Amino acid sequence: MSGYHDRGDGGNYDHSHRALLQAFMSRSVMTFDEMKPIVAEILTAHEPDRTRLANDITQPIVTSMVQAVNAKIGALDFEIRSAINQNDRTLTYALVNTTSDALTQIATTFSPDEIAYIKRLLDCMFETNNKNIREVMAVKHMTATQLAKIPRNRQSQAAADSDGEGESNAQAESTVKGITINDADKVLQHLEVEAFFQRSPQNYYSLAPRALMELRAWLKETYNDPPAEDEDDHEPTIRIRDCEGCREIVTMGLRCDNKECGVRWHDFCAVQYFRGQQGSAKKCPKCKNNWDGSTFVGERADETGSRRRTTNGRSQLMNEEDE
Ligand SMILES: [Zn+2]
Ligand SMILES: [Zn+2]
Repeated sequence: MSGYHDRGDGGNYDHSHRALLQAFMSRSVMTFDEMKPIVAEILTAHEPDRTRLANDITQPIVTSMVQAVNAKIGALDFEIRSAINQNDRTLTYALVNTTSDALTQIATTFSPDEIAYIKRLLDCMFETNNKNIREVMAVKHMTATQLAKIPRNRQSQAAADSDGEGESNAQAESTVKGITINDADKVLQHLEVEAFFQRSPQNYYSLAPRALMELRAWLKETYNDPPAEDEDDHEPTIRIRDCEGCREIVTMGLRCDNKECGVRWHDFCAVQYFRGQQGSAKKCPKCKNNWDGSTFVGERADETGSRRRTTNGRSQLMNEEDE
């Protein structure tokens, strides 16, 4: 019997792998469950005497096919990556561009002014709405719309690319224009349809798994300071951190109550880690603070943050923002 496992070492690229790549080229992002019937159909077409049903498709089969495809497309700066959706734990696969200027690459269908708008959205998610006091990493629809226009005091920043922070206002004004609110809405819709952004029931936009897979290196390069060169330097600002459990980026999850501590978790990774531990037995693995799992990363941090503002007054906020 010529089973699939005969070809499963990732070395032999055949029609079935080509068909899988084609499926990804037309859809870009698929969950494991969405892939199962497609892979079953592809393998059945490849070996008609051995019919596969969706439920015959296991993760090792998919992994092995993906490896074979990746061996072929790596030289073209493409890769099929997988990640667990922070929201619902579904396993998601995406065809991603691996070049360092990923933002420009994903945005090939946009005009330069629209790309600059997307950069303003990302700056809002990962700088403005991502302070140590509140790591929201999302932007409300209303704010996203307002960012169509370039805020006056931020024109130089909006124009600067990731490493051009020092550019003058004059230069920026001449190169980047705002876009209309109508066009901004179209960009947002497009990003949502393409599964780069996701919109929550509370109308927050955040990065969807596809964008996190595609932009993970770029996000850290852009929003995290490089490590301090000597001890006298200020602590570098780290705005994007990985999960203590799975080591993937956390934009939606939990953080240690101790604001100085870098420990972040996805909800389900934390549940796994603290399984079987009760109450005060739960300690942060780094700073040993008590862990109560009530300090959030993501849009839930926005809600708790505004409550805190009314109960503790403004002084705490001011202090944190001064840092
Ligand atoms: Zn995790
Ligand atoms: Zn801690």
